[in-house]
Amino acid sequence: MSAHFARPEHHDMLDRLQDRRMLRELAYIDGHWTAHSTGQTFEVRDPATGLPVARVAHLGADETADAIDAASRALTSWRAMLPQHRANILRKWYDLVLAAKEDLALIMTLEQGKPLDESRGEIDYAASFIEFYAEEGKRLNAENVTSHLPGAHMLVSREAIGVVGIVTPWNFPSAMLTRKAAAALAAGCTIVAHPSSETPLSALALAELAERAGIPAGVFNVVTGKAAAIVGKLCEDPRVRALSFTGSTEVGRLLAAQCAPTMKNLIMELGGHAPLIIFADSDLGSAVDIAISAKFATSGQDCLAANRIYVERPIHDAFVAAFAEKIAFLKVGPGIIDGVEIGPLMHERAVKKLEEQIEDALERGATCVTGGQRHASGPLFFEPTLLVNVPDDALIMREETFGPVAAVTVFDDENDVVRRANDTEYGLVAYVVTRDGQRMLRMGRALEYGMVAINRVKITGAPIPFGGIKQSGLGREGSRHGIEAFTELKYLCLEAS
Ligand code: NAD
Repeated sequence: MSAHFARPEHHDMLDRLQDRRMLRELAYIDGHWTAHSTGQTFEVRDPATGLPVARVAHLGADETADAIDAASRALTSWRAMLPQHRANILRKWYDLVLAAKEDLALIMTLEQGKPLDESRGEIDYAASFIEFYAEEGKRLNAENVTSHLPGAHMLVSREAIGVVGIVTPWNFPSAMLTRKAAAALAAGCTIVAHPSSETPLSALALAELAERAGIPAGVFNVVTGKAAAIVGKLCEDPRVRALSFTGSTEVGRLLAAQCAPTMKNLIMELGGHAPLIIFADSDLGSAVDIAISAKFATSGQDCLAANRIYVERPIHDAFVAAFAEKIAFLKVGPGIIDGVEIGPLMHERAVKKLEEQIEDALERGATCVTGGQRHASGPLFFEPTLLVNVPDDALIMREETFGPVAAVTVFDDENDVVRRANDTEYGLVAYVVTRDGQRMLRMGRALEYGMVAINRVKITGAPIPFGGIKQSGLGREGSRHGIEAFTELKYLCLEAS
């Protein structure tokens, strides 16, 4: 076992870490900090400056097999542990995560780019799943069935499903891990997690804290490196009984196919294309605030981001004027600077995608009211942008944008806007702004989305079932439903006089 500390020539901002051991560059397998046998690493760069932050172990299928071996060995005792003992360990992990909030947030901002305040918010959000599931694990009750057979006693229990594979994206590198891991661990499962290679440091820092909390060796493994090889192994190995994935619909489909031969339970949190529908009876100020938050949080790099904004004609022009004014005041820059609201995008591909979507929308008749190009802060920064009169067949109205570009269109009729809002393969979240109570219920029922937010944006949290329908995913995370996904029902029928 070898401990690894940040090298001094790394990013200056790492000097702000209160505890340098939070910056881990080796993978965590069977309780050991593990390097590649030939020392292969990959670089993690700060998207705001392009500066290197760390060099992380570049592992593949062999080390993933080691991690699955370890998780299988550890399963017997972790599954047999009393739920309250697992809860005590998880609770300690929760306390350590909150105590390390500043370091975890700094690491996240350096590797992901999001403003520091958003990173702090994500750490609170990430921790909340650990606390919630520490408790929920104690309440995994099942049923005593009223017998239909004479003399038979029928008991149904919930058992941990086994080893769980976890695959997470770069946009919420901590919360997407704990939302899955805390539920799986509380249920008595052991896990092998693979974080995105853009943001592995947040997951490794959480593993450091999990180790300090006393999560036993082999129960929690983090394998960094070659996504296709690592995740391919997780999909292929029959001992991995569930795969919990958050990422793009495209990769989700690929992994579902790879898991088919071993019949795993699948939890898929995939892409979104949220409509935001603003009715003319809305308060204009609140509608604008909702639109700013629904579109520009996480610099627009959010599966919940409002990708299509439909505004009812009577308030359309006033809304556009007020929205454009607020957008122009959004502060763009490195997330490490106080007050910054829009950080960099994750990579050049993301910036190119915005440019393509904007060009396509303009060619199809849209108008750019503000923004529209790269921002002076650096190659991965983009100006917060407002497009209006965007036609329904524009790329931006059909594909995820994942950046600070808002697309607005007008509507005249409630039924028609519902049809347009539902005309997508995605079904994660929809937003509605209206003061009409009857309409709130009608819209809530008519919108084909896993989640509908009315007159607010922040709706997520540990107690609610988060997830999408259609091509936005399978299953739910958060709430009691999120832990049940990591269990199997066992039916026991016994004859006893
Ligand atoms: P991605 O699909 O490219 O990658 C997600 C994970 O899959 C990463 O860990 C990556 O290493 C791995 N991966 C990538 N290609 C792979 C392959 N060929 N084989 C095996 N593994 C592979 O997604 P991303 O760009 O990291 O994240 C953005 C996407 O995630 C967006 O589509 C967004 O909507 C979605 N997302 C969804 C939710 C949700 O809860 N529904 C939350 C956050 C992000």
